[in-house]
Amino acid sequence: MLRNDQLDQWDRENFFHPSTHLAQHARGESPSRIVTGGKGVYIEDRDGKTLLDAFAGLYCVNVGYGRTEIADAIAEQARELAYYHAYVGHGTEASITLAKMVLDRAPDHMSKVYFGLGGSDANETNVKLIWYYNNILGRPEKKKIVSRWRGYHGSGLVTGSLTGLKAFHDKFDLPLSQVVHTEAPCYYRRPDLAMSEADFVGHCAAELESLIEREGADTIAAFIGEPILGTGGIVPPPAGYWAAIQPILQKHDILLIADEVVTGFGRLGSMFGSDHYGLKPDIITIAKGLTSAYAPLSGSIVSDKVWKVLEQGTDENGPIGHGWTYSAHPIGAAAGVANLKLIDELGLVENAGRVGAYLNQAMADALAGHAHVGEVRGEGMLCAVELVEDKDKRAFFDPGRKIGMGVAAAMARSGVIARAMPQGDIIGFAPPLCLTEAEADRIVDVARAAVEEVLG
Ligand code: PMP
Repeated sequence: MLRNDQLDQWDRENFFHPSTHLAQHARGESPSRIVTGGKGVYIEDRDGKTLLDAFAGLYCVNVGYGRTEIADAIAEQARELAYYHAYVGHGTEASITLAKMVLDRAPDHMSKVYFGLGGSDANETNVKLIWYYNNILGRPEKKKIVSRWRGYHGSGLVTGSLTGLKAFHDKFDLPLSQVVHTEAPCYYRRPDLAMSEADFVGHCAAELESLIEREGADTIAAFIGEPILGTGGIVPPPAGYWAAIQPILQKHDILLIADEVVTGFGRLGSMFGSDHYGLKPDIITIAKGLTSAYAPLSGSIVSDKVWKVLEQGTDENGPIGHGWTYSAHPIGAAAGVANLKLIDELGLVENAGRVGAYLNQAMADALAGHAHVGEVRGEGMLCAVELVEDKDKRAFFDPGRKIGMGVAAAMARSGVIARAMPQGDIIGFAPPLCLTEAEADRIVDVARAAVEEVLG
């Protein structure tokens, strides 16, 4: 075991962390946590401190930490066959079994699943498949992808473009010109406070219509959206949003990609967020909950309609020119099979719906009345508390005060990890789906105490 000071030094000197203030970290100024173990909803750090992880890593450890069923499946797969590729029709028992399990759980009109490694590369695959699809259909101009401000779809070139958060664009020369953004379905931040929820849905639909008109429907290939906005602040769509958006897409022959990286496999209390909100997507992106992050694995589930065109394309042009060395990696696939079995055996989809509703209600009871809590919102095992300077005006705090980060830090000192999210001072919660009501109570108690500590 390395000494703590040695670990800190090697970390600062060698490790380029994602989404991190690089200069502060290298100078040893930014908070860091070195994690050594995990069990259930808890992680342990190298100082021996145990913390309740109310964000499940990055909303990914859905079955909780330390599940030996998955660890054993990974070890067995590694001993039997650590790797084989999936090119030119090759496969393994694990990858074929997992594909069957995914399709068994997916909406009926879905046809096949392509496996990648993470959410970003899966969305990259989706965009390529859609471009291919429209080329095969003889409409090479129909290529743009519409995304929403505040959407999160990854941080690659095209996926960082799809992501509707400025920090992922600025100084990176993004978004690429093939990506255009439309209104975020965030009722709390509606442009006019007098708007009813139904008015605001009408406004989002009208914004989309006018974007399509401006760009030309014959240039727009697809619309991508998370069933519920995640990293953009955990924002459930206003009632009727998806029912208003989907007919517009159908009218203009625009495909729908449901990015279910966060919502797939139970987080909303339904197997998919598409089931929950009545979406009929052409492609579904999956990652995180597919393996509960025990190994990296993602997927693009394509519908019958898309699949038929892809088949036509290969009949006309030969094998599809797309694939990764690690597509359908057997260790990821073995983890996925064990994980999906566990989700069923433990009834975690149902638990996410039940305990998630309990968590959201308890959070609202504890905090909605606070003078600086603008909104408590969520769905299933997702919850957010938006902090504001002035509740009536919905005014943001001065970003320099880092209120959200301060509240998250206060919570961590009390042993609960929540996430300070972008787009204001938003505290996000996305616990493992195995959370109990007692653990939900603890999260709420610690959140209330932290808000009071920072804001009075
Ligand atoms: N889509 C969504 C909805 C996500 O939340 C994320 C990651 N938070 C991604 C895509 C990107 O996944 P990854 O970080 O695995 O590339």
